[in-house]
Amino acid sequence: MAENFDLIITGGGPAGLAAGLYAARMNLRTVLLERGPIGGQLLNTELIEDYPGFESILGADLAVKMGEHARKFGLDLREFTEVASITSENGDKVVRTTGGDEVRAPALIVAAGGLPRKLGVPGEVELAGRGVSYCAVCDGAFFKSQVLVVVGGGDAAVEEADFLTRYASKVYLIHRRSEFRAQPILIDRAKANPKIEFILEAQVKAIVGEGKVQKVTYVQGGQGKEQEKELEAGGVFIFVGFLPNSGLLKVHVDHDENGYLLTDRDMRTSVEGVWAVGDVRAQLTKQIATAVGDGTTAAVAASAFVSGVRDKERAAAAPAP
Ligand code: NAP
Repeated sequence: MAENFDLIITGGGPAGLAAGLYAARMNLRTVLLERGPIGGQLLNTELIEDYPGFESILGADLAVKMGEHARKFGLDLREFTEVASITSENGDKVVRTTGGDEVRAPALIVAAGGLPRKLGVPGEVELAGRGVSYCAVCDGAFFKSQVLVVVGGGDAAVEEADFLTRYASKVYLIHRRSEFRAQPILIDRAKANPKIEFILEAQVKAIVGEGKVQKVTYVQGGQGKEQEKELEAGGVFIFVGFLPNSGLLKVHVDHDENGYLLTDRDMRTSVEGVWAVGDVRAQLTKQIATAVGDGTTAAVAASAFVSGVRDKERAAAAPAP
């Protein structure tokens, strides 16, 4: 059975929840679909210390607070509701769920986020949040004066290795090749940083520790010259790419070469009536504060758009003079 709304939001992280709060408060009939519990990347963050107004709050607690706040204004928030496809039919955005339900609305905000790519080595999952991290800005401050390992050779790895030296006593940057994908300016900065040591042509084999990260084992050297080595470290930051969840859109929305959706300053995508916010959107930073800002902007823009659609519908339905 199809249900009709003014606005559909896919994804219940900070961007989607902020959009939902604003939209519901502006009296839009709004439904938010989230495939798991609400929170998105908040649920992968132990402690948050960089969201203004909250000196220190557990990610899971902030997720609950954001959800309750949005529900208070009437957001129809549906957890454990997985989106199967998103299409556009006669101007309506149509979202079908894996449970066989269908919701329709003239406006859609894509807040589906994304996931850091995993290394796929033993210990990575078991020690996630116990020394294994995918966000230097979120977790770097927990590793004051410790030795850290950063994995990857792109912009994120090289830039975040440099950032982490604000806290760490030493940062080992392990990259699988001798050439970097990162921009030369970032590499030069990292090379000039005395706290960073490069370990090249090296593949991490395992992250090891009892209850928290204690060491990293890796293999270094080309074929025939491989040597097994290990490093003692308090944390491992993994930056081997990020995968935006933009794949469920069955209508073409302009995106960059990595799959991030392109928007204008009002979070509008290339498809009329579709906005993109938070980590699924091409942007400078992936922070809670910016996600909330994206959601707010998109909700206000969507509200104006829906008013226009409803005005046209009323004019079309009015009897001819
Ligand atoms: P990325 O550019 O895709 O780089 C991923 C890195 O991880 C590559 O060096 C890759 O190695 C390595 N890697 C991938 N899988 C691996 C595995 N299984 N084991 C070991 N290493 C592996 O990802 P990113 O650095 O997250 O950047 C994503 C996008 O955001 C890029 O477009 C980037 O320019 C942008 N970004 C920009 C900035 C900035 O401008 N300041 C900062 C952050 C991110 P190979 O090189 O051998 O493939």
